[in-house]
Amino acid sequence: MTVVKTINEVRQFVKEARLKGMTIGFVPTMGFLHEGHLSLMREAKAQTDYVVVSIFVNPTQFGPTEDLATYPRDLPRDQMLCESVGVDLIFAPEVDEMYPAGHSTIVDCEGPITKQLCGASRPTHFKGVTSVVAKLFNITLPDKAFFGQKDAQQVAVIEKMVKELNFDVEIVPCPIVREEDGLAMSSRNSYLDAEARRQALVLSQSLNAAKASIDAGETRVSELIALIRETIQQAPMAEIDYVQIVDATTLLAIDELNDDTLIALAVKFGKTRLIDNLRIRRR
Ligand code: AMP
Repeated sequence: MTVVKTINEVRQFVKEARLKGMTIGFVPTMGFLHEGHLSLMREAKAQTDYVVVSIFVNPTQFGPTEDLATYPRDLPRDQMLCESVGVDLIFAPEVDEMYPAGHSTIVDCEGPITKQLCGASRPTHFKGVTSVVAKLFNITLPDKAFFGQKDAQQVAVIEKMVKELNFDVEIVPCPIVREEDGLAMSSRNSYLDAEARRQALVLSQSLNAAKASIDAGETRVSELIALIRETIQQAPMAEIDYVQIVDATTLLAIDELNDDTLIALAVKFGKTRLIDNLRIRRR
């Protein structure tokens, strides 16, 4: 496994792999890796020949009052984890490498897809994401890029960007990896103290309750949202940012479950904002 910090080095290694006839898989991350990230890398390893992982805490996707400065970082540990799943190349650039002085080009996917859900409370988040992912795609030129369904809105936005800007890359969404008790894995879980960690279980519990209700025949979005809110509010520390049920592709609100629905939520425990979601596909 090789670790590089510059764009030129990535280009060189990727070019060499291509000359050998290898396909390129790419997994963008912000580091502080966990099983969720590693599952994407394993999938990349299974589907492509040469796996590139980026580790970059991208400042442009954080709002001014968000946790950029405190976001957890541990590159030596991340390197070991990447090595353990057979990653070929890590790209871990400094901020200057990605955004040299004077950098001012952004990629912004406009419209409701970035304004709803997380976009409502994080209005500049997705343009930071699309801008950095567009750059990373141009740097790594992957055949396939692997994203976690944990960030369902991110997947929908990236898929739209790829389609509309004609990036020659296949987006591969991968399932949410959870702790044994159901909490979706996240680098931000490390912010939770023991009590918040315990109460954070209401997120997955509320989605399970919705699933059970759907399995029992419920299709009304308002009823399902009420059930989810009720379950979350059983945790005294939980402060709901949003609970929404939307079309999984457009992310537009719906009144009744359709054949591909996304139930998405964001909840704060103190300063820590956690997200979770459930995709419901029906014929
Ligand atoms: P991040 O480092 O949080 O930007 O995440 C990098 C990639 O890992 C994104 O595609 C995330 O959706 C994905 N990811 C993060 N947590 C999980 C998880 N629990 N299960 C699956 N994928 C995840």
